Amino acid sequence: MKKLLKWVKKENGRLEKDHGRYPDQDKQIFARTIKLGEEFGELCQEVLFHSSRQRKSKMDKFKKENLPDEFADVLITTLLLAQEMNIDIEKALEDKIKKIDERYEK
Ligand SMILES: [Mg+2]
Repeated sequence: MKKLLKWVKKENGRLEKDHGRYPDQDKQIFARTIKLGEEFGELCQEVLFHSSRQRKSKMDKFKKENLPDEFADVLITTLLLAQEMNIDIEKALEDKIKKIDERYEK
């Protein structure tokens, strides 16, 4: 996880260098949130392909290797957003896992 978060920080720097950054942090957060929505939509599309639930014209463009790629996009984009909002995602995941485990250990 630490290696991934270090890479995400580096990727954030690269994205800001290549595409710039909104001076207003709220706008930057909204932009990252919209991007997450876009990536989630792409994942949904690949899930539909996977289940053969797309239109025939779209199914012709289906590539099996796109599904894991879109899962990765959603995770990376989520981590970029969390970092922008100064969320300690490692702690958030640990806390959430603990909560879920406790819920079922009763
Ligand atoms: Mg994508």
